Amino acid sequence: MARAKANKKSDNPGVIGTTARESESGSAQDICSGRRIVDIPYLAEKLKCHSCQELLSLKNIEREKRMGLHSLFTIRCKKCLKTTIVSTGKTHTTRDSHQHADVNTKAILGTVHAGVGCTGLNKVLACLNVPTVSSNLFKRYEREVGPAIEESAKESCRRAAQEERKLVIENIDKLCDEL
Ligand SMILES: [Zn+2]
Repeated sequence: MARAKANKKSDNPGVIGTTARESESGSAQDICSGRRIVDIPYLAEKLKCHSCQELLSLKNIEREKRMGLHSLFTIRCKKCLKTTIVSTGKTHTTRDSHQHADVNTKAILGTVHAGVGCTGLNKVLACLNVPTVSSNLFKRYEREVGPAIEESAKESCRRAAQEERKLVIENIDKLCDEL
């Protein structure tokens, strides 16, 4: 499989992977190469010029501002030539009034759930050719998801205790019936 992939790329000899693509066509790919995790319906909805409502093309990205896995693209409208800032997904306000990107919260939640840390997450992202997250950002988001995980763990313990109590009562009833 790896060989088939390598063959596909070799139509531009001497240049491989992203370098080939970047050197071929310019702008948008130089500014914003590799993969991103995007909310497709959200992005599709937002890819519109704020001035003339013309559909925007990802080929016309002029700038990318990344906040972990969340990106803000500055895209030039080919009709009116004005720029619009388009984000790759939704954001939410945390309990302590910070604006957080959904994709970062979910990625950090998944990372904690998988039992790994920032390094583990970044290893996966690097293999995917998705820009990695900084340890500072990871810590910031961990502060948001930490209490939520604790709460759900407590809830799960509560449920387990209730379940156990129910079973004990049922067993006692059964025992009483048998005696
Ligand atoms: Zn426009």
